Amino acid sequence: MNFLQTFNHFYDSAVKHLHVPKGLSEQIKSCDSVYHLRFPITLDNGQIKVIDAWHGEHSHHMSPLKGGIRFSSVVNEDEVRALASLMTFKCALVNVPFGGGKGGIKIDAKEFSVSELERITRRYTFELHSRNSLGPNTYVPATDYGTTSREMSWIYSTFKTLSNSNIDSAASVTSKNIAQGGVKGRKEATGRGVFIGLRELLDDKEEMGKMGLKKGLKGKSVIIQGFGNVGYHAALFLHDAGAKIVGICEYNGSISNPKGLEPRLVKEHLKNGGNLTDYALCTSFEDPYSVFYEECDILVPAALEEVINEANMYKIKAKIIAEGANGPITYEADKYLSKNGIIILPDLYLNSGGVIVSYFEWLKNLNHVRWGRVDNQGENSLKEIDLINNALNETMCQAFNEIKTKRVKHKGALTYREAAYKIGIEKIANTYIEMGIFP
Ligand code: NAD
Repeated sequence: MNFLQTFNHFYDSAVKHLHVPKGLSEQIKSCDSVYHLRFPITLDNGQIKVIDAWHGEHSHHMSPLKGGIRFSSVVNEDEVRALASLMTFKCALVNVPFGGGKGGIKIDAKEFSVSELERITRRYTFELHSRNSLGPNTYVPATDYGTTSREMSWIYSTFKTLSNSNIDSAASVTSKNIAQGGVKGRKEATGRGVFIGLRELLDDKEEMGKMGLKKGLKGKSVIIQGFGNVGYHAALFLHDAGAKIVGICEYNGSISNPKGLEPRLVKEHLKNGGNLTDYALCTSFEDPYSVFYEECDILVPAALEEVINEANMYKIKAKIIAEGANGPITYEADKYLSKNGIIILPDLYLNSGGVIVSYFEWLKNLNHVRWGRVDNQGENSLKEIDLINNALNETMCQAFNEIKTKRVKHKGALTYREAAYKIGIEKIANTYIEMGIFP
C-alpha cells in the first residue's frame, strides 16, 4: 500500500462513527488541486535539464495553505497528495489556522551544484507565483526533506522581486534565516516537538506500566533513522533529557553503541566530511537497516515514508515508534504493530512542531516586529527563543492531552493515530459547517 492509499485508509477508519455527512467527508478527505509542473533549467555545463515538480493544495477551509517543499528523487504526485492531506489534519489537530499544502521537486539534491539548486528553486518559485499559488495569504512553504533555510531564503527573495516588494513578502515562506525574518527555534522545532511528544507519553505512568516500562525518558534506549534536521534534533533533545541514543541509521549505513552515542559528536564527524560508518565510537554496518531492527525502547523513523511495511514489520523490536517522518508506517504495518502492543505516536501529532513554529514565524513577519519586543519588557522579559519554545511546548502538550482524553473516552480502544485523526476530522468538519461549506 503506498503512502496515499495508507492515508486514505487511516482517514476512512477514523471517520467511521463520527457522523460527518458523506459528501462533506469526501470533501475533507480529497485533495482540492494538484499541479504537475515541468520546467527547464540550465546546468553549469550549459546543458538544459527538464525538472518535474508538483504543488498540492489539499484544503482551502483555512488560508493560507502550509506545507514544506521537498527535494527527493522519489517524489511523485501521490506522495505530494498524501503529504498535503496530512498537513491539513496536522494543522487542525494542533490548532494552527492553516489548510494543508505541499511541494515536491523530483531531484536528488546531492547531484546538483549550489548554483543549479538555486536556479531550480527560483524557477519553481516563479512557476508557483505565476499561478497565484504562493504568498502570505495563499500558500506558505517551509523546509522539508532535502531543503534547508537556504532554499527558503531563495524563495523569499524571488517572491519579493516578483511581487514588487510586497510589504508582507517575508510571510510568503517560513524556516528562513534569522537575518531574513526567520524565527529563533524553527530549525530545531520539529525535533524538539518529537522530544516533547515522547516526554509526555513516557511521563504517563499508567501507560508505561502497561508496557512494562519505567516512567520517564531517563535511560530509555533510542534508535534514530535519518540524521537530518528532524532526526538530529530529536536525538539531541532526547539525549540531553537522559535517553540513550543506541543507534543511528543513514541511507548509506548504520551505527550502534549500547552505551549511547553523543549526537553532537556524530554530527560534527559528518559535517567534517566523514561517513557515518567511519565514526569511531561504535559498531558500524553497511546495511542502513541492520541497526533499525535492533531491540530498543523507542524507534524514531525520521527519513522518508513507507520504511516500515508489510515486508519488514515482523523485524521491528521497538516498544514505541515515534514518527518523526511523515508516513513512515504503511496501513498494514500499523495494524500489525498496534495489535502487538507497540505504541505508535503518529506523524500528524508528533512532527507538528515545525508547522507550529512556522505559524509563529508567519505571525512575526505579518506583525513586522520580533516576538517580545513590544509586550515583554522589564527585568524578567523573555527572549524570543524562550517565548517560541514555551509556546511550542504548550501547544504540543495541549494536543497530547486532547488525544489522551479522546482515548479515555473510547476506553483505550483507539490508537493514538485513530484518536488524532478523529480530532482533526471533527475540527475541520465543524469549520466547514460553521462557514456553510462555501469559503
Ligand atoms: P533532511 O533532508 O534534513 O534529513 C533526512 C535524512 O534522512 C538525511 O540525512 C538523509 O540522508 C536520510 N535518509 C535518506 N534515506 C534514508 C534511508 N533509507 N535510511 C536512513 N536515512 C535516510 O529532512 P528532514 O527535514 O529531517 O525530514 C525528514 C522527515 O521529517 C520527512 O518525512 C519530512 O517530511 C518530515 N518532516 C520534516 C519537518 C521539518 O521541519 N523539516 C517537519 C515535519 C515533518
